[in-house]
Amino acid sequence: MAVRPRYYDGKVAVAREVGVRPMSHELIITDAAGTAVVARWPASELVVLGDTGHEKAPPVIRRGEEARLVIEDPELRHQLAQAMPALAALGRMRPKAAPRIALFGATLAVAIGVFWLAIEVGSSSIAPYVPYDLQHRLGQSVAGELVGQQPLCKGGAGLAAINGLANRLAKAADYPHPVEVRIVKGGPVNAFTLPGGILVFYSDLIDRARNGNEVAGVLAHEMGHVVHYHAIQGLARQFGIDQLLKAMTGGFSDLGTVGQGGTLLLALRNGRGFERDADATGVGLLEKLGLRADGVASFFERMLENQPGDMAAAIGIWSSHPPTRERIEATRRPATGKPAFSDAEWAALRAACNR
Ligand SMILES: [Zn+2]
Repeated sequence: MAVRPRYYDGKVAVAREVGVRPMSHELIITDAAGTAVVARWPASELVVLGDTGHEKAPPVIRRGEEARLVIEDPELRHQLAQAMPALAALGRMRPKAAPRIALFGATLAVAIGVFWLAIEVGSSSIAPYVPYDLQHRLGQSVAGELVGQQPLCKGGAGLAAINGLANRLAKAADYPHPVEVRIVKGGPVNAFTLPGGILVFYSDLIDRARNGNEVAGVLAHEMGHVVHYHAIQGLARQFGIDQLLKAMTGGFSDLGTVGQGGTLLLALRNGRGFERDADATGVGLLEKLGLRADGVASFFERMLENQPGDMAAAIGIWSSHPPTRERIEATRRPATGKPAFSDAEWAALRAACNR
């Protein structure tokens, strides 16, 4: 049976099966039954993204919009290419299917199967079996896309401090891989987690923190995302399995084309359930190591008091980690335990970007 076209509205990370009707002046996207109009895209604004010579299904977008349409069925693509000159590129299929994927053979076939399960079932107990090197390569490429243009902080002692704590937290969680924390110079006040155990902190967050325990609290929260494999699940939901597999198996530019900036960040925005899990796991890991676990609540509390007035703040931790009363109450802990960073480590961390 032919695969139906899939429509991503660019707001919600869910693919929707749709029908398409090519007209002379517009492409009408309908619901799967063909009874309701989902979108009307003028022919003059249609764009076929990506490399039509190599990609199995380069997405179609309306210029300037986040929504996209993925059509895999070769017969339908051929029809659309014939019917609308703007979609002619859809008719140019590569000669052979998936040479890169063939190269990976059985390992990848297993990965694909596992991946589907992980996403469909939504189970984080399956995500760990997606080959780790693939996850890491994906994380690298997403990092390049999101922060590749911004300078990384080089202070060795500060990086050692935060990486040391991150890996101790990983070990406490029985996470079986090394994790890497990168500090990007500048803002917004934010931190996020990528597949393959790559964590990105902005130096503005470290500057804004009142003490090392607050940074440790945010770090532990991000480690919660790491150990639950939230990032790869979010990306898979946003981009679909096929795009993600291509990105993981060497076609890194694919995510760049499809997932520029905004869409990638959208994919990495964790839902409420993920945030709650990461909060609980984070404070739990700090407590397990006997470290002060009051940092994340106090950090969020101050963020909530100082409502962001500028755009830079609004696109940062406010949008990806909204600090709500509920989250603050759930993570509130007494100010007991060892400091997460020694005074020297905290000083080094604050100075990590000063060179
Ligand atoms: Zn989070």
